[in-house]
Amino acid sequence: MAILVLGGAGYIGSHTVDRLVENGYDVAVVDNLVTGHKAAINPKARFYEGDVRDKKFMNDVFDKEDIEGVIHFAAFSVVPESMEKPLKYFDNNTGGMISLLEVMNAHNVKKIVFSSTAATYGEPKQIPIKETDPQVPTNPYGESKLAMEKIMHWSDVAYGIKFVALRYFNVAGAKPDGSIGEDHHPETHLVPIILQVASGERDQLTIFGDDYDTPDGTNVRDYVHVLDLADAHILALKYLQAGNDSDAFNLGSSTGFSNKQMLDAARDVTGKPIPAKMGPRRAGDPSTLIAASDKARKVLGWKPQFDDVHEIIKTAWNWKETHPKGYDDQKGNQ
Ligand code: NAD
Ligand code: UDP
Repeated sequence: MAILVLGGAGYIGSHTVDRLVENGYDVAVVDNLVTGHKAAINPKARFYEGDVRDKKFMNDVFDKEDIEGVIHFAAFSVVPESMEKPLKYFDNNTGGMISLLEVMNAHNVKKIVFSSTAATYGEPKQIPIKETDPQVPTNPYGESKLAMEKIMHWSDVAYGIKFVALRYFNVAGAKPDGSIGEDHHPETHLVPIILQVASGERDQLTIFGDDYDTPDGTNVRDYVHVLDLADAHILALKYLQAGNDSDAFNLGSSTGFSNKQMLDAARDVTGKPIPAKMGPRRAGDPSTLIAASDKARKVLGWKPQFDDVHEIIKTAWNWKETHPKGYDDQKGNQ
């Protein structure tokens, strides 16, 4: 039977498809290539180009494929854009989940692993953040993902669709052989932006705010390597295959790095000066996000391999140096 990966042409999805294939899974991918890249998909996976919200298209895919479970990455995920265009986020993310669960239920597919996010917690009351802590998002992106978690919960109650919500903290890095990596247009994430400056593609980094209540005044985040994240999805699939109940897990390193510390680490790794200036706060940014991730380690048996941000940045830099223009496919569409 096949695992259907929605959003498998995207950054995290393509690394997960690759790991699934390496682990002997039969994989099908759905992606509309709105931000993804066809060239990122492992050629051993079958690719269907289309939109998760298109129920006719999705029904056809579910008719053709013998699907055991779904891994759902297909979403928009840029916090500042979501502040300006909330409806775009609720339509694609939350709307997409409703269509998907209808199609899954109609085809009796009862397992889903879902890309959730630390953004569902909002401004945390305590650090590190536990799965049981209040979820009060500070931006529409996080709200759209929280709604997706809740929709899955009620679909479990009503239809017995079991889910694992994986709440990622900050994802970075690339496959160490440099064959796939992160390529967003426009790029908004800290690590690839720093590396764009290191490579000369961008003049300087603007750090968004140094007046936060953190040791150096800049935001603190918890970075996890994309391959460790990919492996967590395989463990979550196995958890559902073993007949376990729906649950949510944080995926992070449980260590925080400030934006200034990330800049220094990138200067070390690349040996480049990486000019930077301070700018105003970015709307919707919580001050500090660090995961308590012992639950994923204990229950799923997750053992992240990359525990040093230098190593994470090194793999992203290797991808950047070998693919200065990313997938070179003119803005994600091929
Ligand atoms: P990405 O934009 O690279 O990947 C998303 C993929 O989904 C793209 O290939 C895109 O073309 C596809 N897609 C989007 N809407 C679609 C639709 N309606 N139908 C079909 N395909 C669609 O993003 P990413 O960084 O790989 O993130 C993947 C998931 O992880 C997202 O759901 C995001 O919310 C979540 N997440 C990411 C991070 C991070 O740091 N990158 C952190 C927390 C959570
Ligand atoms: N950031 C920054 N400058 C940039 C991009 C990001 O200072 O050009 C900061 C951002 O404000 C946040 C951290 O880097 O504090 C991580 O942001 P990113 O968008 O990578 O991930 P997020 O935490 O929003 O999921």
